[in-house]
Amino acid sequence: MKHGVYAVYGAGGCGRGVMPLAREQLRREGIPVDRLVFVDDEHHAASINGHRVLRYANFLAIDADEHRVALALAHGAIRARIAERCLSDGLFPWEVIAPNVFMMDDVELGEGAILSPFVTLTSNIRIGRHFHANLYSYVEHDCVIGDFVTFAPGVKCNGNVVIEDHAYIGAGAVIRQGRPGRPLVIGRGAVVGMGAVVTRDVPPGVTVVGNPARPLVKERAC
Ligand code: UDP
Repeated sequence: MKHGVYAVYGAGGCGRGVMPLAREQLRREGIPVDRLVFVDDEHHAASINGHRVLRYANFLAIDADEHRVALALAHGAIRARIAERCLSDGLFPWEVIAPNVFMMDDVELGEGAILSPFVTLTSNIRIGRHFHANLYSYVEHDCVIGDFVTFAPGVKCNGNVVIEDHAYIGAGAVIRQGRPGRPLVIGRGAVVGMGAVVTRDVPPGVTVVGNPARPLVKERAC
């Protein structure tokens, strides 16, 4: 009889933080953890932290009812590229959600989300595909978050904020609350530096740092 197989894609820092959550999730569901592997395109170790490391093609070649993949790479654009490949090869996205994550009322969470321990999503929130919320991050009421958005640890995203696709929010950043009908908007592909305090909209593709957060201006050599 065939069965499902499971992968944490990416054996770097992010993947090694997600793997224990994935393993415990399978244990809770009564699924043997030897069906869980890392998939990595470059890593050369045969195993990491007790889990086999396979190349993508070798994972794909496993004869199974279904292949489920948690994309554990912090870079949203890389997740997007790999997600498309997995989709076209008939693999299924896999959500990995720590047991102490707290979700309140009317939260729509897109496929492939990874929510680390102590994450809180409050009420009336919309979140797109393959969202990553790292340790101790929160999303407050009425936020709308796009696809492939990444929160490093400790992000405080207050209410009525819109975060567009592929944005990256650094560790400990604080995003000011928007207003109903006038949300604070962080544009597509924008980057918020660690510890930044975001008090106004961030245009698409722009990196902001500091308190209050301002666009990063690279110093030129004289
Ligand atoms: N990786 C991969 N395929 C890609 C890009 C990256 O398998 O197309 C792997 C890479 O080999 C590395 C991991 O993803 O093992 C990324 O690890 P890193 O610590 O650099 O970043 P993070 O884990 O924070 O995303």
